[in-house]
Amino acid sequence: MSGQQDLLVVKDLRVWHPIRKFLTVAGYVRAVDGVSLSVKQGEIVAIVGESGCGKTTLARAIMGLIPAYSGSIFFEGVDITKLPKPTIRRWYSAQVGLVQQDPYGAMPPFMTIKKIIEEPMIIHKVPKEERERRVRQLLEETGLTPPEDFLHKYPHMLSGGQLQRVAIARALALKPKLIVADEPVSMLDASVRIEVLMMFRGLQEKYKTSVLYITHDFATAKYFSDRIFVMYAGQIVEAGPSRDLINKPKHPYTEALINVLPDPDPGNRFTVKKILPGEPPNLIRPPPGCRLHPRCPYAMEKCRREELPLIELSDGRQVRCWLYA
Ligand code: SF4
Repeated sequence: MSGQQDLLVVKDLRVWHPIRKFLTVAGYVRAVDGVSLSVKQGEIVAIVGESGCGKTTLARAIMGLIPAYSGSIFFEGVDITKLPKPTIRRWYSAQVGLVQQDPYGAMPPFMTIKKIIEEPMIIHKVPKEERERRVRQLLEETGLTPPEDFLHKYPHMLSGGQLQRVAIARALALKPKLIVADEPVSMLDASVRIEVLMMFRGLQEKYKTSVLYITHDFATAKYFSDRIFVMYAGQIVEAGPSRDLINKPKHPYTEALINVLPDPDPGNRFTVKKILPGEPPNLIRPPPGCRLHPRCPYAMEKCRREELPLIELSDGRQVRCWLYA
C-alpha cells in the first residue's frame, strides 16, 4: 500500500458551525478542528471515535455536502473546497459514493430496488441498456440473488442487512474511486455485520475502490481497514496501521477505548476495565492545551497549557500527546 498514490488528501481542515444570535455570529461549534489525513488508491482508512467527536461532519465535508471553514480537501490533486456547487454535484458526485448508517432512512420508500440502484446512473446519463445490465450485475455481486427476486421490491420488503447491500450496490453503481461509508453496519444485527463487511471488502478489492470507513467500533475497524485515524473532540489524536494501533495503542484516549472492548478470552471477561472519567468537552469552548487533559490519567502541567500537533514517530505512527514529544 505504501507505493500507492494518494487519492484524497485533507489538509488542516476546519469545519466550524456558526452560532447565530440575532444577526451576528456569537461563536462557533468547532466540529472539525485542524484535521489532516490521506487515503491512498485502493486503501481502506477508518476514522474511529465516539459519537459527537466530529467524524460524521468530517465525512460530510469530504463528500462536499457542507462547507469548510478553512483548510483544503484535495481529490486527485483538485481542491474540492474551491469548486462551485454545480461542479461538485456533476463531477465529484460521480467520483465519490456514499453508504449511510440508516439504510431505511437513506432510501426513498416509494422507489423500487431497481430504481434506487439505477438512479445515480440516470443522473449521470448512462445509457438504458448499460444501466439494466449493471443493476443486475450489482445485485448479484452484493449477494442479492436471483436479481429478479429483488428488482421490483420496495425498501420496506427487505431486511436491514439486505437493504445495506442495496446501499453498497448503489454506491458502486458509477464505479467511484472513493466510497465514504458512515457507520454502514452499526444498525445491523451482530450476526450479519461481518457478513456485510466481508462482501463490501471483496467488492472494494475487485473495483480497487478506496474507502473512508467512519465508525465508533474498533473491532470492525481492525478487521476491515488498513489504517486507522482516531478522533477526539474534533481532532485526530492518533494514526497508524490498524493492527499495530489496536494491538499497541499509544495515545491515552485510544488506550481507554480499546480497554473497554469485550475481551475474546472468557477468563478475562470480568477484569476491571479502565474507563476515562467525565465527558468529551464542549466544542464551542474546548479546553486549552490538550483537549483530553480534564479526563486523562497521565495529564501533566504543560498538557493544561500547551496544545501540540500530531507527532510523527520513528515507527510511522502519529500521536498527539506530550508523553511522546
Ligand atoms: Fe494526556 Fe497530556 Fe497526552 Fe493529553 S498530552 S493525552 S493530557 S498525557
